Amino acid sequence: MIIGILALQGAFYEHKCMIKQLGHQVIEVRKPSDLDTIHGLILPGGESTTMSKLLVDVGLLAPIQKKIQQHLPILGTCAGLILLAKEVENCTIPTLGVLDITVRRNAFGRQLDSFMVRDIIPKLSKKPIPMTFIRAPFITRAAHPIDVLHRIDGHIVAVQHQYIMGLAFHPELSNDTTIHEHFLRCIAIPIHTPVH
Ligand code: GLN
Repeated sequence: MIIGILALQGAFYEHKCMIKQLGHQVIEVRKPSDLDTIHGLILPGGESTTMSKLLVDVGLLAPIQKKIQQHLPILGTCAGLILLAKEVENCTIPTLGVLDITVRRNAFGRQLDSFMVRDIIPKLSKKPIPMTFIRAPFITRAAHPIDVLHRIDGHIVAVQHQYIMGLAFHPELSNDTTIHEHFLRCIAIPIHTPVH
């Protein structure tokens, strides 16, 4: 498969290495035509205000929205999660608005600017997955029927709705490929297809 990784700013290189390690091709997405041949898209972590501005400047915001409406599978991590959200509590930036959630930027506060935990996400794996939180957001509202996959201290940090997945943490900053493998499976076997 060919996986697009938004490469305007942020931690796109690490996602690229992981997808390649799993045997798939990567296209760094910087302009609308880069979306033409991809089977899935990753929005990396970084700085959501900068990424939002650049998405508008290079004319990618509307084309990505359109692709998602046409069921392009998408994974947003950290700042990428913020870009997926319909509402951002403490910031007014243009987002893709494709996931009916509210996020709070920098929600874990200054003291915990950065931390790493290993937790089991039962729907994804039986073994703990390393999760790196860097000035991370959390989700304060997730509309029904969005699937809440994980919480930290009661706060929602991982959600999935059909082919759209959003994580408050960075899954690409370790050697564990569970999250990327799950995303690739969602592309290969669309989970919104009814089973007969
Ligand atoms: N705090 C950043 C923002 O609001 C997100 C941090 C990250 O992606 N690691 O955009």
